[in-house]
Amino acid sequence: MAHIVDLRSDTVTKPTEAMKHAMTNSALGDDVYGEDPTVNALESKIAAILGKQAALFVPSGTMANLIAIMVHCNKRGSEAFVGNLTHIYKYEQGGASHVAGVLLSTLTNKPDGTFDLEELESRIRGTDVHEPVTNLVAVENTHNVCGGKVLPLKFLDDLAALCKRHNLPIHMDGARLFNACAYLQEDPSRVVRDCDSVSVCFSKGLSAPVGSALVGSYHFIDQARRMRKMLGGGMRQAGVLAAAAIVALDEVVPLLKLDHKRAQILAKVIEGLFLKSFTVDVEGQHSNIVLVRIPAHSALTAEQVVARLAQVCLAETQGDCKTTNDEGVIVKAIYFNSKTLRFTIHREISDEDLWLAIMKITYVFKELDAAA
Ligand SMILES: *Cc1c(COP(=O)(O)O)cnc(C)c1O
Repeated sequence: MAHIVDLRSDTVTKPTEAMKHAMTNSALGDDVYGEDPTVNALESKIAAILGKQAALFVPSGTMANLIAIMVHCNKRGSEAFVGNLTHIYKYEQGGASHVAGVLLSTLTNKPDGTFDLEELESRIRGTDVHEPVTNLVAVENTHNVCGGKVLPLKFLDDLAALCKRHNLPIHMDGARLFNACAYLQEDPSRVVRDCDSVSVCFSKGLSAPVGSALVGSYHFIDQARRMRKMLGGGMRQAGVLAAAAIVALDEVVPLLKLDHKRAQILAKVIEGLFLKSFTVDVEGQHSNIVLVRIPAHSALTAEQVVARLAQVCLAETQGDCKTTNDEGVIVKAIYFNSKTLRFTIHREISDEDLWLAIMKITYVFKELDAAA
């Protein structure tokens, strides 16, 4: 038996007791008729929090982003600009092209999750008969693959000014928007002020079981509601799910800063090991995602590190790397590529879990570094 500390993703979080209570005790109706009071309450609540007119509850973040693209780019042959390391570009099967006939054009993401605004401006198209028509710019906040980076408000403000000049809407993939707000200590409505639409996930760090919201103007959400139905995302007594999301906003959002603190501690410990095989960016450690990088010249791969963290050897449990019950420790992590692994802190990681994970990671990193 081993104690498992699951740092693969904040999606592994399960509903809290208060969520389960709300899920079994909330008023329900048929949401396709607009008659689920709990869904309606969630949609009003999230729209108000983000300072927008309306919201739509959808099954997933992927669907929220796809619907946003479909509404903003409602003519085939439209072009949407996205960062080359964004979820929309890397992890949504190219749904924008597959389903919506939209060309995704990439801007190179900088390490802080932003991209070059001069490059964007120089690449906006629309009058030449040879070219597609640029109809959208999307940003991701926090930026997952860049290590949970929070986009600077200055960048968002400059982007907004540029897009206004060109009459281009902005969509924010805010799957972890509340993590960004916790870091900035800013009101969500300020962070998304100049975005025409925003998607937020309830099922990541917020710990609800299922669901995302798409938020925007009345007109935008009316069109989004049609698209949701076409994509098969019209749900009936969806208040069962929305109930948990309402609790998530009240109960879990205020706790996100604790995840960030624990992620800071983990990053600082790894930095403090001073190992040549593993580096972290403590300065850029904004939120709940900790990226560990392996130098390009190293023979070590992130796959090997992830596999080793999932094993317990006898020597570990004979030393200090164990629980008070003498159980070994497994740390689950994921890798983005052969030189980058990711640890994600979430509500179910207690201080004791963090401590055990630190012991295990320290043990394994030293072992692999010595062998490298
Ligand atoms: C997880 C995630 C999504 C999509 O969420 P699903 O609910 O898994 O479809 C979109 N964007 C980002 C940045 C994410 O991390």
